Amino acid sequence: MSSTLLTGRLAKEHKTIVHMLQIYCQAHHQGQKNNGLCEACNQLAGYAEQKLDRCPYGDSKPDCARCPIHCYKPDERERARQAMRFAGPKMLWHHPIEAIIHLYDRKRPIPERPPKGASQQARRKQAQLDSTSE
Ligand SMILES: [Zn+2]
Repeated sequence: MSSTLLTGRLAKEHKTIVHMLQIYCQAHHQGQKNNGLCEACNQLAGYAEQKLDRCPYGDSKPDCARCPIHCYKPDERERARQAMRFAGPKMLWHHPIEAIIHLYDRKRPIPERPPKGASQQARRKQAQLDSTSE
């Protein structure tokens, strides 16, 4: 499942999240439907996509685990954390390039709090407004 909504770094990040959920789901839920995800994990993948789209940092988003903004609800946060913890070490085997990019991202400093409207969702809406007002 690749995102039809997100672009650039955030689209890549979502792809990595889906791959990690697949590894976790296949080991814990025997997930087969929806590209290897059970219903609950597929829902979590959709939730993650929505959160990435609305991430106030937009393309400068830091690694989620160290982010000062807690945008996930506690239940989703816990489920995502468990899946990432399980799948993280296995990513190097299944998706080595994504795993290395992810490790590299974890070393990036947390950026300054971004200005309002930096999320991909906000910028997409602004672009729509700009194109209709001209
Ligand atoms: Zn699952």
